[in-house]
Amino acid sequence: MIDLDQHRVKPGDRPDLSKIPTRQNAGLDSKADGEALLASNVERIDELQGRLWAEGRRSVLLVLQGMDTSGKDGTIRKVFTGVNPAAFEIHQFGVPGPHEIAQDYLWRAHARVPRRGRIGVFNRSHYEDVLVARVAKLVEKPVWKRRYEHINDFERMLHDEGTSVVKCFLHVSREEQFERLNARIDDPRKNWKLSPSDFTARADWPEYRDAYEDVLERCSTKQAPWYVVPADRKWVRNAIVSQLILATLEKLDPKYPEGVEDHEALRTFPRDHR
Ligand code: AMP
Ligand code: MG
Repeated sequence: MIDLDQHRVKPGDRPDLSKIPTRQNAGLDSKADGEALLASNVERIDELQGRLWAEGRRSVLLVLQGMDTSGKDGTIRKVFTGVNPAAFEIHQFGVPGPHEIAQDYLWRAHARVPRRGRIGVFNRSHYEDVLVARVAKLVEKPVWKRRYEHINDFERMLHDEGTSVVKCFLHVSREEQFERLNARIDDPRKNWKLSPSDFTARADWPEYRDAYEDVLERCSTKQAPWYVVPADRKWVRNAIVSQLILATLEKLDPKYPEGVEDHEALRTFPRDHR
């Protein structure tokens, strides 16, 4: 049994990432156990997403962050494999382009918040503006320091307006990243995923850990909590994230709308319409 509470960062707590194991089973007995849980969660997510879509009033936003190779793409693929694509959105946040850099840093994130009735995923997000922007010194300290508050205000607004925001930090070890980067070098089918920035970020590992700890401490709120997801084992990671999405949808408990008033009357088609 997964206990999501154990992974949630309580508002104001500062998790010591070097002490949180990346390779753990999170209460699951075995890989088979984790895969069975994922499969059943995927089915229930599909059913609840159908209700969210039909209801058309609220949305769910999953923010995924983590170092390169932490498994953001793989998580999306496995957890959302069963959902109706019509009611699902995914957005990847890379280095800002000319139109994006011409705006404030929250602009591109806000524009991509899922529409009512949908589940949306941010593969990287506005948090890059207090992570890479800070570590790679793209902006001065006073600039990134004040952003935590903007982000909390932004997410609180989304919550108030009907978007449930949940955020996962995929927590991989530096050793596991080494293995995964090497696999990308060794396997020609994975070469395309490599980027020089993966290696500069890897070299700055301690700085990124500090920056992530600040994010977790300052931006895990009641309305938009952060979860630290142990991610060295993919099946554990998938089980936890799917459990979190399911729990979020269950809490929303979306309802099918009533439909037209006298829908029973619609049964009485004229004969020649049968
Ligand atoms: P990937 O997710 O592997 O496709 O890589 C996307 C790259 O874009 C990563 O190196 C991120 O650090 C970078 N990136 C994302 N958002 C920003 C941002 N706001 N400023 C600068 N770089 C960013
Ligand atoms: Mg990458």
